[in-house]
Amino acid sequence: AHIFKTGWTGINERTFIAVKPDGVQRRLVGEIIRRFERKGFKLVGMKFLQASEEQLRQHYWELRERPFYKGLVKYMSSGPIVVMAWQGLDVVKTARKMLGETNPADSLPGTIRGDYGVEVSRNVIHGSDSVENAQREISLWFKEHELICWEESNELWIYK
Ligand code: GDP
Ligand code: MG
Repeated sequence: AHIFKTGWTGINERTFIAVKPDGVQRRLVGEIIRRFERKGFKLVGMKFLQASEEQLRQHYWELRERPFYKGLVKYMSSGPIVVMAWQGLDVVKTARKMLGETNPADSLPGTIRGDYGVEVSRNVIHGSDSVENAQREISLWFKEHELICWEESNELWIYK
């Protein structure tokens, strides 16, 4: 739990990932977890929940002036979501690459949005866009004791 206060850098960097309501409805949760696991990132927190509009307003605070903001909060609270914290070297930037572009139409095949999404307003998955936002989002969605610091037997085969 000390990582919460100290190192969020190097192999301890963390990002916040959420499978959006459309991703859950379309049974993509397993596929998404599989991609992050196989990549070599470490799962350090996960919950299945229905988010409140208030929580989502905080989460998407930066977008509050955008024309799609109201619809976005409605969409995100329209069904259950899976929230996750993943840890690893450069996980914030790499996860964004794994997700693809904001608009699935601009996302390459091989990315999650490129493979499973069509429209920007139903783009399956969220991922933090910076280390600072990852920290903010993880502390918004998780209590400190819900983040698990665990020893990975595989670490020497993932990191040199
Ligand atoms: P992200 O970081 O790639 O998720 O993109 P943003 O942070 O810019 O936007 C947050 C979310 O708002 C996106 O994932 C989309 O679900 C939604 N969104 C972004 N831009 C648009 C838009 O132009 N129209 C609509 N309807 N939704 C959008
Ligand atoms: Mg964003």
